Order: sequence, then structure tokens, then C-alpha cells
Amino acid sequence: MITEDARALLSTGAVCDSCLGRPFADRSFGLTNAERGRALRTTVALADDEDFETTAPADCWVCEGYCGTFDAVAETIVDALEGTAFATYQVGTRVPPLVEENERLLREDAGLEPDVGESMKREMNREVGRRVGATTETEVDFDRPDVLAVVDLEGFDPLEALESGTVTSHAVDVQINPAFVYGRYRKLERDIPQTEWPCRECGGSGIQLGDDGEEPCDYCGGSGYLYDTSVEQVVRPHVVDAMDGDEGTFHGAGREDVDARMLEEGRPFVLEVKRPRVRDPDPAELEAEINEAADGAVEVAGLRLATYEMVERVKEHDASKHYRADVEFAESVDEDAFETALAELEGTTVEQYTPERVDHRRAGLTRERTVYAIDGDLRSPTEAEVRLHGEGGLYVKELISSDGGRTEPSLAGLLGTDAEVTALDVTGVEGENEPFEREAYFLDEPRDGSEPATGDA
Ligand SMILES: [Zn+2]
Ligand SMILES: [Zn+2]
Repeated sequence: MITEDARALLSTGAVCDSCLGRPFADRSFGLTNAERGRALRTTVALADDEDFETTAPADCWVCEGYCGTFDAVAETIVDALEGTAFATYQVGTRVPPLVEENERLLREDAGLEPDVGESMKREMNREVGRRVGATTETEVDFDRPDVLAVVDLEGFDPLEALESGTVTSHAVDVQINPAFVYGRYRKLERDIPQTEWPCRECGGSGIQLGDDGEEPCDYCGGSGYLYDTSVEQVVRPHVVDAMDGDEGTFHGAGREDVDARMLEEGRPFVLEVKRPRVRDPDPAELEAEINEAADGAVEVAGLRLATYEMVERVKEHDASKHYRADVEFAESVDEDAFETALAELEGTTVEQYTPERVDHRRAGLTRERTVYAIDGDLRSPTEAEVRLHGEGGLYVKELISSDGGRTEPSLAGLLGTDAEVTALDVTGVEGENEPFEREAYFLDEPRDGSEPATGDA
């Protein structure tokens, strides 16, 4: 039966071992298609007592020579990846439509199902991939490889490649997937935004048009930025440099107001590096370097090499926040009234209409947020420190001030006097149901002696 199929395939014309073996690719795991084809050719020759004749790929009407180019293609890919560190790879192949048509015709002419066995695309991916993996001592990863090499078979002439043993680099496109560093940041000074904040007057150019032509923008003083620096600008260049990448993107787990400090365990973030040539910088060294350069304004802790899943984690994981606020009252407040108001707010669900300051473009709506815990100290009749733990999305300044009645209940409302937050610190960002840090999303081992990066007690 299988011998008859092989005989029928051989009668279609000159067919190389790989192309002969490919329709039987689901038989006898552990053989290459070329080994299957060679065995079938031998069997048919013996059964029919014919002289044994091989067909080189160069003479094969099906693949037109491509099945002899695995080594050369693999070599070109390895060359293209020179200087790039990676642990996992994947190879993809674009097969010329005419060759795909040949594959169907081969099976049809032999009376087989048009897609029986394996496609040349799959064989090429596997055979070239196996060679790339063996040479570079890396593993194939079909899901999320560090590097992806796409071979365009139309990008080279197979007969020329068979003759020279080389394939032009133009036929291979190497993509390097991003790499990720996770950590927590602290912002020890106020008026530092989390991400770059280009000047809105000059669009970040730092230039305005004056009477005598271009001059420095009045609004930003020519820097192009509204603030001197940002957490992103402090962290990004060091990580991009350490990974020898092209550019970086900062992803924070939410953000605090520009004028709020971020203290204690800090806020989770991921720095994504595009086209990294290095994937395993030493996180401890990187951390020390960033902290030294930031000189106290910003600090990072608990840096670790992370998987791409960590980006979604920091962006979407529900988190509650701890705050510390300095509050000023318009009129004197007595101790009893203060304590009673805090007791009233503890555990309560607050209704907050979108504050005007948040986003003028956002449609207003009323949200409900819970104050998990709140306490404080009256420092003088008109000054207090308030500490609270609230559900993610709770507007703390409005919880204190009432935002003109848009937040209900509020400290100001309960006390019957205007109240205002004069300084705000975020003292904790923690996952609602479980910590941000999930071991499966890290590529490195936890560091001994590093600061605990689990703010989630
Ligand atoms: Zn062939
Ligand atoms: Zn400007």
C-alpha cells in the first residue's frame, strides 16, 4: 500500500527524497522526511528489481531545489543573529505559491489527498530551526521566542544556493522580541511626573517662533518638557543601555499625582526594551546604577528580569492604595468631631463624580469606591495628618475636600468646614487579591539580600 503510493509519487517525475517522504511525514516518528523518502525509493527499487537512482533536490520538480538548502538558510540566519543574545527562537518560512501548487499537484497526480502528510513550509521551519538551535545552543519556542527568523524562499535562487552553499541575507528577516525589567519605584520628591511630559505649548520641540525667527519656548524654557525629569527618564536610559536595545517604554501600575510622593515599597513598573541585543543584564547592578544617577529624587528597588506577561500584570492587576495626607481646615476643628468624622468614613463606600481636574475630556460619571481604613492626628485646630487605605481609583484629595459636593461623604462635609490636602504621599500600592509579583512572570531567581519587593503584606 505505502509502496504503491511511493511508486505513484515517483511516476510523477523526478522527486527528491524530502519531497517523496513528506506525504508520509506522520509515519515513524524520529525519521526525517529525506530518510523516509530514501527508504521508500530503496523499497520500490528492490520490489521492482530496478536500478537504484537517486534524485538530487536540484532536479526535483516539486521543491525546485529548496529541500537542499536547509544548511545554507540556517547559516544565514545564524549570521544575521550574530551579536544578539537569545535563549529561544522560532523560524518561519514563506513558500512561493508555485511550489505550494507543486506540492498539491504531486499528491493529486499520485492519487493521494491534496494535503496528506506535511507541507514544505513546516518541513523547512523544522529542519532549518533544528540547525539554528544546534549551532546556537538555543531552544525552539512556538509561543513567544526571543527571536523570530522569517525566511522568504522567493528571496533567493535555490539552484544558485545549492551551487554556492550560501543564501543571501536579504532572504532572511530577523525580528528581536522585546525584553522586560520589572521593579518598584519610589518618588522621594514632589513635582516629578511618572512618564515624560512634553511641553504642550511647543509640542516638545522647545522652540517657539518669535519676531526674529526661532527662539526658546517661553513656557518650558526651551527644554521641551514641563518638568525637568520623570521617573521614566530616570529609569529608561539605563535599562535600554544595559540591554543594548533601540528604545524603551515605561509601564506603571497606575500613577500618582505629579505633586504626590511615592514612598515605602514603591509602585510596580515594567520597562520594555525594544530590539535588545542583551537579555540578561545583572538586575542588582542596574538597580545600583539607576539609583546612583537619580541621586535621591527617584529610587528603584527589587529589579528583576520579567516576561512580557508582566506588562499586562502591572497595567491590569487591581490594586488598593495607602496614602498619607497633610490636611488644612478653613475653621477650627475639635478632636471629638475629627475622630467622629474619621470613624464615619472608615469602611464606607464613597460616591465620587469625576473630578474636573482629572480629565476634561472624560465623560463625567459617578463611581463608588470603598475607604478600607482611615485614621489620623489633629496637629492643631486647623491642621491634621490623615492616613488611609482605599480601593483603587478612590480620589483622595476629593475625599478630603468634597470637591464642591461631588464626593459624598467627605471629611469636609462631615466636619462642616472646608478642608484641603496640602501634601499627599502614596505609601503603598498592593494587589487587591494577590501580590503583583508572581514568580511565573520572572525569568531570574529572587535575589538574596535584595530588598523585599512584595509590598503586599
Ligand atoms: Zn524536492
Ligand atoms: Zn515648550
